[in-house]
Amino acid sequence: MKRFSGKVVFVTGAGRGIGKSVSTAFAEEEARVCLVDIEEESLSITVNELKEKGHEVRGFAADISNPEKVNEVVDQVAELFGKIDILVNNAGVLRDNILFKMSDSDWDTVMNVHLKGTFNCSRAIQKYMVKHHFGRIINISSTSALGNRGQANYSTAKAGLQGFTKTLAIELGAFGITVNAVAPGFIETDMTKATAERMGLSFGDLVKYSVSQIPVGRSGQPEDIANAVLFFAMDESSFVNGQVLYVAGGPKN
Ligand code: NAD
Repeated sequence: MKRFSGKVVFVTGAGRGIGKSVSTAFAEEEARVCLVDIEEESLSITVNELKEKGHEVRGFAADISNPEKVNEVVDQVAELFGKIDILVNNAGVLRDNILFKMSDSDWDTVMNVHLKGTFNCSRAIQKYMVKHHFGRIINISSTSALGNRGQANYSTAKAGLQGFTKTLAIELGAFGITVNAVAPGFIETDMTKATAERMGLSFGDLVKYSVSQIPVGRSGQPEDIANAVLFFAMDESSFVNGQVLYVAGGPKN
């Protein structure tokens, strides 16, 4: 028996990066993992990779900002497995720009994916958690919640997720459900690769600069975030509720 044997886990933005690493970590601990992503190609590559290793995983192509689609996928998963124990709200996008250049669409897209998407998934899944009197919801925030140049939209959304986390922790605690957030610092993924490109830097140079600002002297890897997510998801973490854990190699970055 491994740590998450028998648990059903729902991970958004699971096709690559942090979501892929979180899904892999749960699968390796014998959880049954439902991977959700808007990008079908990377999703199916990741799902097949995990299946080939013998893990029990399912892929669902969905845009989490669409409430009807989210309800449909969640009901499908609940019918398939009879329950949903753990939700990781990880899907995310960037539309960075300095305020005066930020378009309505840059603002709306970021709010829709991070805030609306997390709301859609949490609302749809909590009813199954309440029914079984057990649940773990883990939201992926960011150190950008503390403020970051060029990210008025993203930092607002990531700070909003922290308020959402604390409110759900209060509302759902009585039903055996804990709600916590992990706030990553600089993690090497396609998202930070795209940031380097936007800044006109090579990825190597961006990593080098970031590492120079990080007390532990290295950049973050997706596995660093997966470890923190698994901590909140454990049965033994039932008294940890409404917390934000910064995983950034130091107090900020
Ligand atoms: P990534 O771009 O590599 O992966 C994000 C995934 O989310 C992609 O597979 C993408 O297709 C999916 N996605 C985007 N919009 C979606 C939608 N509407 N519906 C379903 N899926 C959607 O990014 P990542 O670095 O792995 O980031 C994962 C999470 O961690 C994000 O919420 C991000 O904001 C957060 N984060 C990342 C860093 C970092 O340094 N990489 C730092 C702090 C927080």
